[in-house]
Amino acid sequence: MRINIFLIVIIAISIMPGYSKAAVQIFACEPEWASLSHEIGGDKVAVFSATSSRQDPHYIRAKPSLIARMRKSDLVIGSGASLEIGWLPILLRKAGNSRIQPGELGYLMAADVVDTLDKPMTLDRSQGDVHPEGNPHIHLNPYNITLVAKAVTDRLVQLDQKNIDHYRRRQAIFLKKWIEAIKRWELELGLFKDLPVVVHHTSFAYLENWLGLRRIATLEPKPGIPPTTGHLRSLLTAIRKKQPQLILRTPYDSAKASTWLSGKSSLRAVKLPYTVGGDEKSDNLFSLFDQTLLLLKGALHDK
Ligand SMILES: [Zn+2]
Repeated sequence: MRINIFLIVIIAISIMPGYSKAAVQIFACEPEWASLSHEIGGDKVAVFSATSSRQDPHYIRAKPSLIARMRKSDLVIGSGASLEIGWLPILLRKAGNSRIQPGELGYLMAADVVDTLDKPMTLDRSQGDVHPEGNPHIHLNPYNITLVAKAVTDRLVQLDQKNIDHYRRRQAIFLKKWIEAIKRWELELGLFKDLPVVVHHTSFAYLENWLGLRRIATLEPKPGIPPTTGHLRSLLTAIRKKQPQLILRTPYDSAKASTWLSGKSSLRAVKLPYTVGGDEKSDNLFSLFDQTLLLLKGALHDK
């Protein structure tokens, strides 16, 4: 009889709302890291993404619901390199969770495990929203995903030692598939080599670097400063000589500036998904890259 009551209690707890069998609670600052956490953690992790593809990760409000999530998290994964500087430190302070503070096992910033691009020679705030650690939008080079996948696995292994084999096995499966996908994507590198592009913000620096795209201008006059009519007019003259073909933007950039420039020139404005969930087909990291290349090819083809 006593055993039966024990069983009933266990069943009752396990069907209670919010109960999770997952061993590790992950707070992902951006959807790409939520997706990668799922790939490596599987059913041993419960993943929460603080932002969606429609939100600009530079500017998020430190809402009480995010603080509550952070309070019960075991691992925070962000892009780092100051991308979340306007909101993550506030959340960390207010949540008061000692396990996820900088320097702890539960704090992982992706930019810390890759080589960042565009590191400024001098730090001059008059140049706009410049990140001293380099460009933080690191996830659109697939080799960076490989490095971050290893770092995520290392952390999970240390945080949840009962499931070491599970994480290592999932990492191996993911990386095998990922390396095969990179080979497939790179068959098309020739299409993009030296292709001149204009971008809204420097969100695609790592994609440009991987594909060999040549960024010749940004719609923002300085990083983080919205496009102005004056700047767009001067671009119109400047780009005539350089003959760019595409204007790239994310789902969270306003379409206004790229639509205007596209209307006044032969450039084609392309909205890329940028992150997981950025369009209906990009539902994981693999389809994010598939879709990005497909949209770029389509835009070139239609010209
Ligand atoms: Zn940025």
